[in-house]
Amino acid sequence: MSERTNTRITMARRPEGMPVDDDFAVEKVPAPTPGPNELLLKTLWLSLDPYMRGRMSNRKSYAEPLQIGEVITGGVVAQVVESNHPEWKVGELVTSMSGWQAYAVAEPGQYRLFRVDPDNAPIQTAIGATGMPGQTAYFGLLRVGKPQPGETVVVSAASGAVGATVGQIAKIQGCRVVGVAGGPEKCGWCTDELGFDACVDYKSATFAEDLKAACPDGVDVYFENVGGAVLEAVAPLLNEGARVPVCGFISAYNSPSDQPLEPPQDWLMRTLDNPPETRFFVVVEWIEEFEEAAAQLGEWIREGKLKYRETVVEGIENAPQAFRMLFTGDNFGKLLVKVADPE
Ligand code: NDP
Repeated sequence: MSERTNTRITMARRPEGMPVDDDFAVEKVPAPTPGPNELLLKTLWLSLDPYMRGRMSNRKSYAEPLQIGEVITGGVVAQVVESNHPEWKVGELVTSMSGWQAYAVAEPGQYRLFRVDPDNAPIQTAIGATGMPGQTAYFGLLRVGKPQPGETVVVSAASGAVGATVGQIAKIQGCRVVGVAGGPEKCGWCTDELGFDACVDYKSATFAEDLKAACPDGVDVYFENVGGAVLEAVAPLLNEGARVPVCGFISAYNSPSDQPLEPPQDWLMRTLDNPPETRFFVVVEWIEEFEEAAAQLGEWIREGKLKYRETVVEGIENAPQAFRMLFTGDNFGKLLVKVADPE
């Protein structure tokens, strides 16, 4: 019987608009006890991602909404601290969808439980640049965006976990890369550190003209992360035959719950003379290839071709406050909660 205490964050009520502290409850309960063939996982790192906002809403989506009282959904890097399975050793590192909690029971073979290779890249990248956000960039750009050398790729939320990786993979593919991000610091990082050809500040009064000037040959691939005003500025610049991988549309995630949350891209694209190939995708479409992609992304990191940045908040009880950073733009790179050190 485990004597560990599990700190877990549950949904106390459904947020309306920007989530507030009272939408969450911090609970302290005994850690669960693993049954036959099960493992006890200790969370080391928790990933905070924009999609979690959608799970807190009751709106129809590709995933089931969270129920009141449930632990908030989330990917973690965890350590096996108890094992009742002969093929899993105490001390091994994994990624798991354990949610916002310090301990969870897992069963080998369960959905999205993967071993982490600590030699691939720093372990927390298994929920960042080599993990779900990195794979989103990898598959969304290469399989949906299909960039060709010399083409112009525009990516929004460019300094974020997904966007920064999209831009760098597009550079590896020989494309001209233009980022869109909020403010000169984030834009400067994209050009100076990541090697983007340009990065345009969408908060500037001259954003639409600046974007046009940065894309003299038009846009062949628009990797869509935000929707809204950025989408409206990109749309008229799209070339014939352009592709638009619709990854997300964060500008709408806190919109009123009585409005449907549907990708806004479809109708806008249909109004264009040359509508692009537009496809909303979900990264788990390629789940069978996740480990292969993680190895490739790790290799690029080790070779210095793929850089990443992290905003780290300490302590799982601070996850609700940290979560809001995604929607205010206060995170700079992958937003992580450091929950505990390995044993
Ligand atoms: P980020 O690390 O990019 O963080 C979110 C960023 O979005 C903020 O830092 C902010 O950057 C920007 N942002 C927030 N609100 C707005 C707004 N109203 N208008 C414009 N920009 C805004 O997050 P991720 O990289 O994890 O996620 C990026 C996108 O990818 C999201 O839409 C997410 O839902 C989607 N996604 C989709 C997946 C899929 O399978 N389809 C999987 C994973 C992610 P700034 O300061 O530049 O404004």
